[in-house]
Amino acid sequence: MLPSMPETPVGLCSSCTHQRMIRSGRGSTFSMCERGLKDDAWPKYPRLPVLRCRGYEPAGPAPVRDAA
Ligand code: SF4
Repeated sequence: MLPSMPETPVGLCSSCTHQRMIRSGRGSTFSMCERGLKDDAWPKYPRLPVLRCRGYEPAGPAPVRDAA
């Protein structure tokens, strides 16, 4: 069973550039690691909370968009 949110603390993934949040058809939210899509050595859905990860890269600030 996948660790759904927000009941499960996510840890490092919540501030990592490789995290992607997935919403299921039932409305549950999951933390997915995009490294796991490209590299079989990485779990697509890591066991939460992730406290240490050699692939961690802090996400940059949210992009600023111009007003229309
Ligand atoms: S690289 Fe590590 S910290 Fe980043 S999303 Fe994947 S598992 Fe989480």
